[in-house]
Amino acid sequence: MIKPEPLEATAVLTVNLGAIVANWLGLRGKLPRAECAAVVKADAYGLGAEKVAPALAAAGCVTFFVAPLDEGVVLRPLLPEAEIVALSGLVAGNEKEHVAHRVTPVLNSLEEIARWQAFAWSSGKLLPAWIHLDTGMNRLGLDTSAVLSLATQPERLDGLLLHGWMSHLACADQAGHPMSVAQLGRFHLALARLPKARRSLANSAGIFRSRALHLELVRPGAALYGINPTPTTTNPQLSVITMKGRILQVRDIDRGKGVGYGAKHKMDRPGRIATIAVGYADGCLRSQEGRGRVFIDGQPAPVVGQVSMDLITADVTELPNGAVQPGGWAELIGPHRSVDTVAEESGTIGYEILTSLSRRCRRVWLPPCEGEKWTF
Ligand SMILES: *Cc1c(COP(=O)(O)O)cnc(C)c1O
Repeated sequence: MIKPEPLEATAVLTVNLGAIVANWLGLRGKLPRAECAAVVKADAYGLGAEKVAPALAAAGCVTFFVAPLDEGVVLRPLLPEAEIVALSGLVAGNEKEHVAHRVTPVLNSLEEIARWQAFAWSSGKLLPAWIHLDTGMNRLGLDTSAVLSLATQPERLDGLLLHGWMSHLACADQAGHPMSVAQLGRFHLALARLPKARRSLANSAGIFRSRALHLELVRPGAALYGINPTPTTTNPQLSVITMKGRILQVRDIDRGKGVGYGAKHKMDRPGRIATIAVGYADGCLRSQEGRGRVFIDGQPAPVVGQVSMDLITADVTELPNGAVQPGGWAELIGPHRSVDTVAEESGTIGYEILTSLSRRCRRVWLPPCEGEKWTF
């Protein structure tokens, strides 16, 4: 069979697995005692969990957090040895699948604990579990009265292999926020009444906030993927992705003419517009209109007019003649525009930028080490 010629891409997302591994190793280096897990939920924040998780496992990561069970099921064959933990908890009816795929549930309520215990009794074996204690975020986990029930009736945990207690910080990204200290205090208070097991509290930002938050295991996600875990200071993490879009057309436009849907952007002088092959269907948010920038040959050009499904338009009037040509590339995320900058320009956070990147964009994963064998 003749292999088809590879098509030229119009949008390319490059994910540097080496940078993700280096970010994880860097975090691990900050932890004298705690284990460094990896949060790979939402397809590793949109960057491809099936590539990211095995690369981290090869670097020594042994605990992976996903959100729903399904994400763990996909990863299990790729991570034969690792512990995979599902943060979304134990949805009724999924007990058998958790066991079959060895995905440890984070139990979020007394009801989930009871159901997992009943399943353990009926299957005649001890079943692993993490338990989430709510320490003030009021989102998931056992509340104070549930903790009290567990403290006074420890037999509620019989039949379970307790892998750890966890809680989640609400304000770790804000330096000096009293909430983090308060949550740590509540966590310690609750744990003083409960059976001993490993404890986990910190996400990416929590790792940088204080050593007291590290406990026995940390759960970084964002920092692995290059999002700044210390928003008020320079990003200590390596950037991980680049995204570029093909320039499809360049046109000269008269003063007063409109650009794009709704003709909302009016040229205030004669100028030049480049039309680039990425749109909101690729993850370029509509809120970029009038606020975002692309870089062509290292030079900025403002995104003008509405973002379409497949296209954006940039005003390239200020760029030197000849620098902007159909067939060339515009940088949307990369050395000149970090994920955090794009987020700021779009009125959102880096997490949403990453998880919005769509499948339509051609993806290229750069392996961690030159010469190492990777079969993708
Ligand atoms: C998503 C998540 C994390 C990772 O948070 P980052 O800020 O991305 O490091 C950790 N713990 C829980 C419970 C989460 O939901």
